[in-house]
Amino acid sequence: MSNTSFLLAIEDLTVSFDGFKAVEGLNLYLEQGELRVIIGPNGAGKTTVLDMICGKTRPTAGSIMFRNRELVGLREHEIVRAGIGRKFQTPSIYENLTVRENLELSYPRGRTVLGSLAFRVTAEVNERVGKVASEIGLSEQLEIEGAFLSHGQKQWLEIGMLLMQEPDLLMLDEPVAGMSPPEREKTAALIRRISAGRAIIVIEHDMEFVSRIADKVTVLHLGKILAEGSMAEIQRHPKVIDVYLGH
Ligand code: ADP
Ligand code: MG
Repeated sequence: MSNTSFLLAIEDLTVSFDGFKAVEGLNLYLEQGELRVIIGPNGAGKTTVLDMICGKTRPTAGSIMFRNRELVGLREHEIVRAGIGRKFQTPSIYENLTVRENLELSYPRGRTVLGSLAFRVTAEVNERVGKVASEIGLSEQLEIEGAFLSHGQKQWLEIGMLLMQEPDLLMLDEPVAGMSPPEREKTAALIRRISAGRAIIVIEHDMEFVSRIADKVTVLHLGKILAEGSMAEIQRHPKVIDVYLGH
């Protein structure tokens, strides 16, 4: 594909595992700053799409252009450096470190051993920690150890750890899984807040939650796109109604 204004342009993306096509012929285009939600039944291929974007799974065929640069074939750390942050389903924070320390550790720095040994917390790091803590609603918890955070707060901290890298594209896989209704509400507000100035892809099942955050929704089913559009368009789409109501 020639140069485009899309932040992310995925074309003909396919992956097969022992002959089984988990994702097949996927085309997906993301605008700068867009907040896209991918929904679909279990096994639809949603997580596999994220795995391919972040370099964890290598596609069998197709192209993933990020800012007109081909990501297929790059290593995971190169994709992170290109500006893509991805959150997995389970939180992976350091429980014995404070919120502040968890955030500090996530600040991008020199990749050499010396670079990380010589790492000192500068004014710039402090400033970003403060900014990110406020974005994720943990300004009051900066000196608290990870172990003492609620499940929701741990998830927000992990989002904050990704924000420390200032990614242009953030990918969140089922960010409200296991959260209480008030935590879900806070997460919706948090995602809207951090979507200013960056693109986000969210995978989610909770339709109430999806309707609160999405600019545009992509419905995946059996590795292919079933429908795409606003939440209102998706909810009255005959094929979507078919799949979700089970016929
Ligand atoms: P979703 O996130 O939409 O629930 P997944 O992307 O996790 O779905 O999985 C899609 C399909 O691909 C499932 O049938 C799953 O078992 C299969 N799959 C995913 N990853 C692998 C893998 N590494 N090896 C074999 N099969 C896989
Ligand atoms: Mg999944």
